Amino acid sequence: MSSLNDNFSEALRAIEARGQHRSLRSTEMKPQGRLQLEGRNCLDFSSNDYLNLSQHPLLIERASEWSKKLGAGAGASRLVTGTREAHLALEARIAAFKGTEAALLFATGWQANAAVVPALLAAAPGAAVFTDRLIHASLHHGCAAAGAKQHRFRHNDLDHLEELLANKGADSPARIIITESVFSMDGDMADLARLVDIAQRLDAFLYLDEAHATGVVGPGGAGLSAGFPGSVDLVMGTFSKALGCFGAYVAGSRLLCDYLVNTCSSFIFSTAPPPAVLGAIDAAFELVPLMDRKRAHLGELGDTLRRGLSTLGVDSLNSTTHIVPAIVGDAGEAVRLSEALADRNIVASAIRPPTVPPGTSRLRLALRATHSHDDIDMLVAAIRASR
Ligand SMILES: *Cc1c(COP(=O)(O)O)cnc(C)c1O
Repeated sequence: MSSLNDNFSEALRAIEARGQHRSLRSTEMKPQGRLQLEGRNCLDFSSNDYLNLSQHPLLIERASEWSKKLGAGAGASRLVTGTREAHLALEARIAAFKGTEAALLFATGWQANAAVVPALLAAAPGAAVFTDRLIHASLHHGCAAAGAKQHRFRHNDLDHLEELLANKGADSPARIIITESVFSMDGDMADLARLVDIAQRLDAFLYLDEAHATGVVGPGGAGLSAGFPGSVDLVMGTFSKALGCFGAYVAGSRLLCDYLVNTCSSFIFSTAPPPAVLGAIDAAFELVPLMDRKRAHLGELGDTLRRGLSTLGVDSLNSTTHIVPAIVGDAGEAVRLSEALADRNIVASAIRPPTVPPGTSRLRLALRATHSHDDIDMLVAAIRASR
């Protein structure tokens, strides 16, 4: 065996010494926002299946129908022989949903971000990149892969963004702003109207990740950008969260999509998404625009939870959505609280550095349309009893 194995062991020991070692455990999704964990039926506040579509019969049926009709796999990458009529029809449907000229499917959101950012920068050598401090790991990966230096603005602080654009962007050949609409760990939203204005005034390309917004916010669940048609240069989102299945999209102008088809490594060199995934996405698109009541319920659950946390003196930052952080501060304490809740059959994962900044370790509470207000009361009572 290679001596590299010693390095792996040493690295794992270091991770363990930092209290950051993690391992996999199996769970099973159950009805009513429940999760089967180690033989116990638990209330689940850690899945991103916000609308519970992962268990919806229409998605399951269509995934199986399209597999029966088209096969288990696509057989090749999109540019070779992997493009079916179903891919093109779905891309047209995504574009209509997002109000853009065109859209492209990607295997996953991680793959999209990690490869789209370098593709953009290949067309704009020396471009200055401005990123919110809390953007997703996949976007950081994309910047690193492009060799781009990030000018990071304080989270959702658009004054700081403008300042950085003036200082670092004015002399650059191009400017790219990268941010999210609903932030995955804080559950707050970007001020998109102002971002659009800044981008237009300062000739910056605006890249918006809507992973946690797609299906939940905006008109018909179409995301925050759907309220600003034609104003966001590139919108990225996933089908893996509220849409309950798998995969991702990039939506924008026909020119942008044509450019990515010809330059984006993860689009070109990865096998096309399989029919089962396309079928499930197609079914999700049929349901999501009609789910306003579920979206309103999610909003009310969020308000109930934030009120409950505030009676306990627990900070939920600027959350206004279906993602509610319960800030604990210390990483060890967050893990202890999460374990104490697990003893009460509640799954609420502790999130700690490096995923969130030091001193802001938390429970990340993700609400599901299948939760009831009683479930929220139970959660708040369990937190009260466990602190
Ligand atoms: C989950 C997530 C992704 C990655 O999407 P996957 O389809 O799960 O790979 C990208 N960006 C953000 C903000 C996310 O939360």
